[in-house]
Amino acid sequence: MALVCREIHEWIEQQIERPIETWENQQEQRCRAEPCNWWCLCCNRWFCWLVWVLVRIIRWVLVTVGKWVVRVVCEVVSFVLDVIAFVINLILSIPIIGGIIRTILNWVTEIIWRVVGLFDLALGAIGIRPRKRMYVGVIIPLRDGTPIATEADILPQINKAIELYDRLCNVKIVYAGTCTAGINAPSGALNVSCDAGGFFSDWWVGGSYIEFVSSTCKFSDGWRRVLGYGAEIIVMVVANVEPDTTTPAGTTSTVGCSFASTHNYVVVEATPGPAVAAHEIGHACWLGHTDDSANLMWPSNLATNPTLTDGQILLVRWSKHCVYF
Ligand SMILES: [Zn+2]
Repeated sequence: MALVCREIHEWIEQQIERPIETWENQQEQRCRAEPCNWWCLCCNRWFCWLVWVLVRIIRWVLVTVGKWVVRVVCEVVSFVLDVIAFVINLILSIPIIGGIIRTILNWVTEIIWRVVGLFDLALGAIGIRPRKRMYVGVIIPLRDGTPIATEADILPQINKAIELYDRLCNVKIVYAGTCTAGINAPSGALNVSCDAGGFFSDWWVGGSYIEFVSSTCKFSDGWRRVLGYGAEIIVMVVANVEPDTTTPAGTTSTVGCSFASTHNYVVVEATPGPAVAAHEIGHACWLGHTDDSANLMWPSNLATNPTLTDGQILLVRWSKHCVYF
C-alpha cells in the first residue's frame, strides 16, 4: 500500500468529510428544534430536513465514494510506477556506474524541485506555512545473518525527529516503518566514513548494497525516490560512522552522516542519542552546521530540545523531501 495514497485518504476524511458530517449533525439538531410554521403546513421544517438530506446524499456520493475511487486509482498508479522504479533502482544498484547515475539523478531532481518550489518558498517567507510531510523509514542491515539493531533501538531517534519537525517546521514526518534487509551487508555498508572517502565509497559495493536493499525493502513509493518528489529519507542503521578520533582531550565519535542531496539515505548508529537522525535529516534538506549549541545543527553533543532558525526552517520546507502529499 502506498503511503502517499493513505495520506491523501486521511486528508480527505479529516479536512472534508468530517467537517461536513459535523455540519450535518448540527443541521439535524436545528431541524429537530425548529418550531412548526402552521400557516404553511410546517414548510420551514420540511425545508430544513430537505437541506439535511440533500447534503447527506451529495456528501456520500462525492466525498465518501470519491475518496475510495481516489484511493483505488492512486494505489493502482503507484503500483505500476513502483514496478518501473524497481527496475530503475536495480540498475542504480550496479557499482560505480549505478552510483554515479544515482548521485547525478539525486542532485538534478533536488534542483528541479527547488526551482518548482520557489513560489512556496516565497509564501513561507511571508509566514504562510501550511502543514507539509516528510516520509522517513528505517533499514537495518544484516551482519552474518543477524540484524545489527532492532526497531526499538532506533525508535527514540525517529520519535524525536517526528516531534522536532512537527514543533519547529509544521512538518509531519510520516514514519514508513523499519525493514530488516534480506541479505548480509558488506563491510562498506556497516562502517561508513563521513568524508570524501565516504562520498566515493557510496559508488562501490557499500552504496550498491544500500540501494539494493532500499529497492526491495522500500518497494512501495519507490518511484518517489527516482523522481525525487517526496522521496522517502531512509535512515540506514550502521555499525560505525567514521572518523572516530582519540586525542589527549578525549574521544570524538562520529555517530551519523548525510551527504545532503547526494543520497536518499542518511546513516546513523543505533543508539547514539535521540536527536541524531533529526540532525542528519536536516543535512539531507541542505542544512549545514551552526556554531549555536542550542541549534539542531550544532555538530556535537546535541541539546535535548534543539531549535532551528527561521532561515533553516524555510530551507527544510523547501526540500524535495518536504511536500504537501
Ligand atoms: Zn552534522
